[in-house]
Amino acid sequence: MNSKDERLKTAGDTVFKVFDGLAEAMYKIVRGILEYMPIGVFALIGYVVATYGPGVLGPLGIAVIALYVGLFIHIFLVYGGILAIFRLNILKFLKRASEAMLTAFVTRSSSGTLPVTMRVAEEKLGIGKEVYAFTLPLGATINMDGTAMYQAIATIFIANALGIHLAPYQHLLIVLTAVLASIGTAGVPGAGLIMLAMVLEGVGLPLTDPNVALAYSMIAGIDVILDMGRTMVNVTGDLVGTSIVAKTEGELDESKWK
Ligand code: ASP
Repeated sequence: MNSKDERLKTAGDTVFKVFDGLAEAMYKIVRGILEYMPIGVFALIGYVVATYGPGVLGPLGIAVIALYVGLFIHIFLVYGGILAIFRLNILKFLKRASEAMLTAFVTRSSSGTLPVTMRVAEEKLGIGKEVYAFTLPLGATINMDGTAMYQAIATIFIANALGIHLAPYQHLLIVLTAVLASIGTAGVPGAGLIMLAMVLEGVGLPLTDPNVALAYSMIAGIDVILDMGRTMVNVTGDLVGTSIVAKTEGELDESKWK
């Protein structure tokens, strides 16, 4: 190595170490903040109950349960089924993907979880870098199944809260707009709530209507709880897709799945 190469290598290493140090510091800060998350969630729910009365807890609770049941079914039936088609076992997958899933759950950010997702893909799932270096950033940006489900459930919750009956074609419209809105949603906490406005507009429930705005703010009060689950599924979906691409491309080290 000549002296110029040497200098470039040292410079590259230094830059790497700076960013690596910053990432580590960020993880530490986020972890510290997350220690207090239960208090924050409690305060948000306290605010919603104090503003709208304890009666809101029933329908809001049902919305939370509906989303989590939906996410559970999505993981085991849809992801499990797709993995099975490619002769991969969902339970083995979940065991290896759990670190990324948990990080997504607590950080509520697909983009923030990306470094962990990439490490899990390489070290735990045995996926080749050629595959995951392309699919995971792409997935963290546009593949958001959990967000699409959340937007559909939140829209139906708001319509129900306002006593509006949705026709079958409006349900189809919700599916379509929620998928499109989820693609446009950024992988950061709470982004799905902002894009929900687009889905509501699509089915004729604009936020300029004060009643819609009120029901929307109820959902906003519990968004943290919904965001945790949907982000976890968003990240899981990215890893499922990446595993399948890796398998079909011969870039999957299946000895890691044993
Ligand atoms: N927090 C989600 C994510 O990062 C996006 C959303 O708010 O739905 O994947």
